[in-house]
Amino acid sequence: MVNFGRKTVEAMSYTFPKWPFPYSHITVFQGLAQMEYPMMVNDNPIEDRAETIMLTDHEIFHTMFPFYMGINETKYGWMDEGWATMGEWLITPIIDPSITDDYGVAPYGAVAGTEIDLPITTLTTQQNGTTMFLNSYPKPALGYLYVRDMLGNELFEKALHYYIAQWNGKHPQPYDFFNAMNTASGRNLNWFWQRWFFDDGYPDLAIADVQEQNGSSTVTVASVGTKPVPVDLIVTYTDGTSLTLHKDISVWEKGNSTMQLTFKPTKQVKQLELKGTYTPDSNKKDNIYHVKQQQLN
Ligand SMILES: [Zn+2]
Repeated sequence: MVNFGRKTVEAMSYTFPKWPFPYSHITVFQGLAQMEYPMMVNDNPIEDRAETIMLTDHEIFHTMFPFYMGINETKYGWMDEGWATMGEWLITPIIDPSITDDYGVAPYGAVAGTEIDLPITTLTTQQNGTTMFLNSYPKPALGYLYVRDMLGNELFEKALHYYIAQWNGKHPQPYDFFNAMNTASGRNLNWFWQRWFFDDGYPDLAIADVQEQNGSSTVTVASVGTKPVPVDLIVTYTDGTSLTLHKDISVWEKGNSTMQLTFKPTKQVKQLELKGTYTPDSNKKDNIYHVKQQQLN
């Protein structure tokens, strides 16, 4: 039997967060909960292999957050569950590349912007149910993932390591995290922290306009909701092949409500679609544009 626990510890030490596993060992045992403890994980038996991997690596990831750091998870669920969620998204496909772990992404897209969707930084003690789930798990995980996408793996890792090195065992508060990431990355990320972690809003991109000129296509993408999310435009040709154009969240930094993507199609385009595994979208109907095919006379 494959040892998911050992593989998780290796992935944590060498890939993400790429920080030496801070304890001599961890014990994972089959019990009746889905719960992390210092150096111990108590997981109930699950039939499905993929779900077992996701649960196991998630709970082991908690070794770093909250335990090694000393996070107050009762008040700031996003400061530990958010990382454990990002951790399972990244580590699960390392253990088994056939699994896509997008835990919580669709549920967020489904209720984003409704009255049960409160800002991430709302104290966890003041939330319950879906509200608490979204704010502790997928929403902060997406925020961390988007910053990593924007900074690049190397700079993100440098900033995260600075946060870990400065604050492990010292019970960091929310602003300690934000300030550490700004300081070590050398970037003022406050625009994003504000809009993703503190403000209202919902993720909703739309294809607003498509223009073709001199063999180039210019697609205007609108941010209908005000949450800054990455732009992934899938261009599908009439022969069924496709390519994806990607822009990180920095395209929304100025507070603009539209951005443009220009590309040169190499073949006849059939369809354009805004779609990404880690890009929730509250209204998917305006994400697709079908290209009218020219009639041959
Ligand atoms: Zn957890």
